[in-house]
Amino acid sequence: MKKNIALIPGDGIGPEIIREARKVLDRVCEKFGHEFTYKELLMGGCSIDAYGVPLTDETLEAARASDSVLLGAVGGNVGNSRWYDVAPNLRPEAGLLAIRKGLGLFANIRPAYLYKELKAACPLREDIIGEGFDMVIMRELTGGLYFGERHTEEVNGVKKATDTLTYDENEIRRIAIKAFEIAEKRRGKVTSVDKANVLDSSRLWRQVAEEVAKDYPNVELNHMLVDNCAMQLVMNPGQFDVILTENMFGDILSDEASMITGSIGMLSSASLSETKLGLYEPSHGSAPDIAGKDLANPIATILSAAMMLRYSFDMDKEADAVEAAVSTVLEEGWRTGDIMSEGCTLVGTAKMGDLIAERI
Ligand code: NAD
Repeated sequence: MKKNIALIPGDGIGPEIIREARKVLDRVCEKFGHEFTYKELLMGGCSIDAYGVPLTDETLEAARASDSVLLGAVGGNVGNSRWYDVAPNLRPEAGLLAIRKGLGLFANIRPAYLYKELKAACPLREDIIGEGFDMVIMRELTGGLYFGERHTEEVNGVKKATDTLTYDENEIRRIAIKAFEIAEKRRGKVTSVDKANVLDSSRLWRQVAEEVAKDYPNVELNHMLVDNCAMQLVMNPGQFDVILTENMFGDILSDEASMITGSIGMLSSASLSETKLGLYEPSHGSAPDIAGKDLANPIATILSAAMMLRYSFDMDKEADAVEAAVSTVLEEGWRTGDIMSEGCTLVGTAKMGDLIAERI
């Protein structure tokens, strides 16, 4: 299969981790007989240096014309006045918001998977971890409280602030469909999280989730209130497969779920649109403190590339092969500094990429 991939290395450790992900994708091509063509694009601080803005229209157009986008990270030290002594819409991170909007990305997926080799990094007790956990949080990204009307006023000398939480059935349906499609590729379970005992938007969310579920007889749907979900994540994380939820609940729950894996350098993410075009990136930032030193863990980016294979290209066995190669390398005891533990072998960014590519 031929695919055009837009690569956006970005700033800080971005170029180093994208280089390793590309190494792994090239190995996938070799092994499975595909042809990937890459177009490197500038976004963030490097785009400010070159063009004066964090994302140009041409870059956005090139990303839109690709089959999928793989991003490193953008941004620098906030003390770096060259990029930050400007209006917020001209700072590196503004490129992220602009590309998400420009590509119509409405669904964010963050997996939380505990590798048995990294159990020591998990802050939960051994008896709670049990056999480990493997879930994805599917968060609605363009609606709800963060995009509703808001204002602050003074009424009879008292300051009053209002935010509104609105969803229409179409916004709920399109993300519910994505969640069920992904559950079909996984263990076939969707937990829809809401606050239906209080909120009208949640009651509509629940109703639409049930309607969509009828089209996916192989997927089991259950509902959970968000406060209970926050507790269940740290009491029994193994029960979850796909968590489907609205923007603000997803913001909070996905951070909670990622913390229980314990290792920021391992966390991948994907943002999906109505078409197969998606944007795949590690959950961490550009780590300027370790940039250019061959210290960054490239695994989150490599796992993001695996998600791209699975969700944008429907290359499930190729994605499985990348994920299995990551597991093998960890089982063999290879570690970058951020996940290092006693008895393991410390390697740098490039060596970690080589090892994973070799094991595909
Ligand atoms: P960060 O995630 O970049 O770093 C936090 C800590 O984790 C640092 O100590 C860093 O060295 C470490 N770390 C991060 N990724 C690592 C990896 N792959 N391997 C090993 N260690 C790793 O967060 P921050 O320091 O708050 O932000 C740095 C810059 O990144 C800022 O400019 C911020 O705005 C930007 N940022 C960008 C994105 C993005 O591009 N999506 C996301 C978050 C932050």
